[in-house]
Amino acid sequence: MRLDAVTLYFCATIVAACCALAMFHGWRVHRNEPAVRYWMIGFVCSALGTLPIALGSFFPIWLARGIGNTVAVASCAFLYVGTVLFLERPLRWRLLAAIYVPAFVANLYGAVVIDSLVLRVASYAVASSATCLLMAAALWRHPPPGQGSLARFLAVCWTTYAGTALLRGAAALQAGQTVTLQTLGPAQAFFFSVLLAIMILTTVGHLLLAGQRLQLRLDALANRDELTGLLNRRAFQALAVEAAAGGKAASTLMVVDIDHFKTINDRYGHLVGDLVLRSAAATLQDGLRKADILARAGGEEFWVLAPQTAQAEALGLAERLRRAVEGAAVSIGSETIHITVSIGLSSIAAQDEARDLREALAEADAAMYAAKAGGRNRISVVGVPAAA
Ligand code: GH3
Ligand code: MG
Ligand code: MG
Repeated sequence: MRLDAVTLYFCATIVAACCALAMFHGWRVHRNEPAVRYWMIGFVCSALGTLPIALGSFFPIWLARGIGNTVAVASCAFLYVGTVLFLERPLRWRLLAAIYVPAFVANLYGAVVIDSLVLRVASYAVASSATCLLMAAALWRHPPPGQGSLARFLAVCWTTYAGTALLRGAAALQAGQTVTLQTLGPAQAFFFSVLLAIMILTTVGHLLLAGQRLQLRLDALANRDELTGLLNRRAFQALAVEAAAGGKAASTLMVVDIDHFKTINDRYGHLVGDLVLRSAAATLQDGLRKADILARAGGEEFWVLAPQTAQAEALGLAERLRRAVEGAAVSIGSETIHITVSIGLSSIAAQDEARDLREALAEADAAMYAAKAGGRNRISVVGVPAAA
């Protein structure tokens, strides 16, 4: 297969322009995500950088080779800046400058002063591949929470692109000073084929990344408690019904309420109260097993579902939670705050419906109040007096 170099540049211009257009719409959707704007500028640069060579006869040669290549190579910098912003990682300005200043100088020298394709292609290869590798490393090592597979997919895309750009640079170096755009051969066609595929894949990938983050944020707003990050009441009910009804054995429900929490607010203030609530949430979460479901039901009350766990076993779990909270401490300046919890337990038979979860919650709540009445810092089971 022989592909004409100017045709390849023309295809790259068209594809980059389409990617920029897609990013433009992505930017309109994700106005609060500045990264998308940089990704859009990156693809605009890609399109503008390849256009003068694609339409070579309409542009002076210094503009096509000098400015065109400079703008094309700058596109990688914009894509990198957008990605770093998205990942909330520090921008490595000095490193970027160290990559780009020599590359721009070498490229302009090879375009305007001595007309060397080798210098132009090699400087482009080094700068663009170094930037794309930086971007790939950031995506691979610091994927946003819950977005690991998409971030790693993009890291692979950018690494592939970097490798191909380097191959083309090496081919140009090997061909020597007499090589032209038309005689660079298969390395040229291979590079552009990969470039086209990577532009499409990364546009889709980066837009999906922004969309997925929005979805995760909306999901957290709908299902999570803002202060503690635990599930909220509604999400708990949905998950607990599913988990309790799904298994063959009975499950145990717990209502966990912090004792005399009001006195902590009264004594230390609401902000310290919030800290104590967060710490209690973390202690409870640490004390639970993977399958257990924990939620903040509101105020200083938490719900736990121990799926397919008989009451005898759940009593052991509840006791571990009670002790863990009793043993934990929050330090505020020179003061150390200790809290305790009262826990009420009830059972949900297997295959029960949502109505039964509500009933079980009412029973566990009544048991929790029995634990309070029995002296607090204790566990109570429905129908059984609280035990210390
Ligand atoms: P008991 O042992 O009977 O449960 O007593 P208590 O003081 O824990 O219970 P009470 O219901 O009297 O008080 C609960 C307090 O929790 C009152 C409310 O101001 C406080 N509270 C509820 N939500 C929050 C919150 O998000 N942050 C803080 N800091 N306090 C909260
Ligand atoms: Mg309380
Ligand atoms: Mg309460």
